Amino acid sequence: MIPRTLFIAALCGMLFASAGRLSAQATRQTEIYKRIKLKIDAVPAIDTHDHLWPFDRLPGLRETSRGKGMNVASIWGNSYWPQVGRLTPWQPKMEFDDWWKDAKDDWDNSRATSFYRYTQIALKDLYGVDWDRVTDEQARELDRKIFDNYRDQKWLHHVVTEKANIELMFNDPYWARLAFEKSYPFEVIVFNITSLVRGFHASEYGPENPFDSPYEFATKHGLPMNSVDDFLKVLDRLFLEAKDKGAVCLKSTLAYQRTLEFDNVPKERAEAAFGKRRTTLTPEQIKDFEDFVFWRVCELSAKYELPFQIHTGHGRIQSSNPLLLVDLIEANLKTKFILFHGGYPWVGETGAILLRHWNHVWIDSVWLPSLSYSMGKRAYHEWLEQMPSTRIMWGGDCNHGEGIYGSTELTRMCIAEVLAEKVERGDLLEDHAHRIGRQIMRDNALELFPQLKERLWKK
Ligand SMILES: [Zn+2]
Repeated sequence: MIPRTLFIAALCGMLFASAGRLSAQATRQTEIYKRIKLKIDAVPAIDTHDHLWPFDRLPGLRETSRGKGMNVASIWGNSYWPQVGRLTPWQPKMEFDDWWKDAKDDWDNSRATSFYRYTQIALKDLYGVDWDRVTDEQARELDRKIFDNYRDQKWLHHVVTEKANIELMFNDPYWARLAFEKSYPFEVIVFNITSLVRGFHASEYGPENPFDSPYEFATKHGLPMNSVDDFLKVLDRLFLEAKDKGAVCLKSTLAYQRTLEFDNVPKERAEAAFGKRRTTLTPEQIKDFEDFVFWRVCELSAKYELPFQIHTGHGRIQSSNPLLLVDLIEANLKTKFILFHGGYPWVGETGAILLRHWNHVWIDSVWLPSLSYSMGKRAYHEWLEQMPSTRIMWGGDCNHGEGIYGSTELTRMCIAEVLAEKVERGDLLEDHAHRIGRQIMRDNALELFPQLKERLWKK
């Protein structure tokens, strides 16, 4: 006879074992997860958001003792990781060993963060280096390899299109918003409208970036800019040009600078601000003008069939809750809205918006698994319970190949894990899980942007 205490202990052990089977690590070890992950890996992805600068202007470029190039400090320094850790600064032309002796402990307090993890995954998969256990010799060798890889932009093509298996990548060119130029064959042009809302005066745009200014654009096209009506004509012409040059959607990052509450301001109030310098305007007058333009942009988004990607959530946390957009969304039923980052940290709120407005609103989970893998899992779990599986997209949101690879891989893992858990629980058939994985990684973007079908190039 088994003593009662032993029996209870055994029972508890069994219970823990079965609960443990559903834990994250265990899910990734299941055959269901492995099958779903393989299927998701095989999907040539449509990545709806990244920031890959022209190759000769990559923001990670450093002056090294071997010349200008990319190195280990570039990869970490131009990732999201510095938001959770301090990287030892790279001094121009310094030797790697001199940097490394101070830098080697920089990651110790951030090993569990997702901002660390996505780059750790990239270094492991692309270079075979486990950053959790990296030795001095491996770090030095990795630095050399990264520099060598970036001698030729073939490396970026290889990483993006083969390693990350991305077929087309939307590029948000915040460095030249109104240039509408492509630097990579796999790139899809995005029309970033962020700088337009402050078009009340030419002095808002400095000489350092002529591709931000609607005034420069107006001058180039011989259009007057003396009134709000003139401004609206320039806006329309910009949309025409964007569409002509192949842009497929709009993007706003205004949530980094101001509230997401946009009022439907009458034209007279916008006219009160137009033609005046910022220093002579009140914050209310500036907001009036910005709000007025933002509503016109929503209307032009519908007119030119350019769906509108809007940054919501993390960045500037004050007033960036996507719920602040609901009045605007309800009043612009012909505009296709795409809520970025799943509204992190308001992923539940974002799901609730879709529950009511899924016929003209989409969620882009771009950046979310790298912000918090667990929040990403929670979000995919909830969203798939709240809306048709056609409404969710994804993106990388990075400025170098390693970042794009790492965030893509983390996203594929996150989606596969959620789907495997739903299948394990008996809430979803595995065949249906495969379909959903393909929809998020690819098909949903192709349905929303059907013109991309002409540009598909992978078999
Ligand atoms: Zn971005």
